Amino acid sequence: MPTLLEGKTALVLGVANRWSLAYAISQAFVREGAKLILTYQGDRQKQTVEELAAELKAHQAIACDVTQDAQLAALTEGLQQQGTVLNAVVHSIAFANREDLSRPFLETSRSGYALAQDVSAYSLVAVARAAAPLMTAGGSVTTLTYLGSTRVVENYNVMGVAKAALEATMRYLANDLGPSNIRVNAISAGAVKTASARGISGFSKMLEKAAQLAPLRRNTDPAEVADAAVFLASDLGRGVTGNVLFVDAGMQMMGFTRAE
Ligand code: NAD
Repeated sequence: MPTLLEGKTALVLGVANRWSLAYAISQAFVREGAKLILTYQGDRQKQTVEELAAELKAHQAIACDVTQDAQLAALTEGLQQQGTVLNAVVHSIAFANREDLSRPFLETSRSGYALAQDVSAYSLVAVARAAAPLMTAGGSVTTLTYLGSTRVVENYNVMGVAKAALEATMRYLANDLGPSNIRVNAISAGAVKTASARGISGFSKMLEKAAQLAPLRRNTDPAEVADAAVFLASDLGRGVTGNVLFVDAGMQMMGFTRAE
């Protein structure tokens, strides 16, 4: 088996449980020989993530709520003190109020809009700024996005707007960090049943429809998203930055119906 990430250290933010895309990515990173550092959002997730970290033989699991600048600063400082050089960072984080993912977009509150932007888009700036000083040998920052950034997907609402901001954020960061040989990209994953996805009203129906419509006639496997993340984090992706890479069974290029 090739080990594409041998000798690399990867920080993965966004493991909540076994269904998290970040968990599949972590598994693939370990398979490819990376030294893994995980973060967890808060005390509620600490035990689960620590158990998963042990299972994955991760080096450590660190608390990091991305809305808390002090926690991000502590993350940088802690890793700096250990002499950690990061080669890859995965940002797999999003949040919006449940009611904003079920009612008409027109009803979105100011605070709900700001919250979705803060956690789901601004956090990439905050994470990249915290990680960059540790990426002294260059490397890769990858975030996770969804088609709802450019297309209207029912009930995705405020998260679609946040993903549009996230993708633009990714491009501006790619421009800023390019001279440090740090690449910044997004993977646009097809719909996968995770805890976050369950918060979107009508998600199961959407999964069914996507499987019918996608050129590959099936849904996205988290392992496929993970392998794309390996590519971007590895030297194979060395020329790729500022990109949205679709891993969605081809769904993104389809029209809205299939005659059959
Ligand atoms: P998930 O619920 O497993 O992961 C979301 C993660 O965000 C959780 O680990 C949660 O703890 C974390 N998070 C939320 N607020 C946070 C905060 N303040 N600080 C730190 N962490 C915080 O769901 P997922 O589907 O694996 O989502 C991961 C990423 O993939 C998200 O950006 C999501 O939008 C994106 N994505 C998901 C799908 C899908 O269909 N599941 C498709 C495309 C993109």
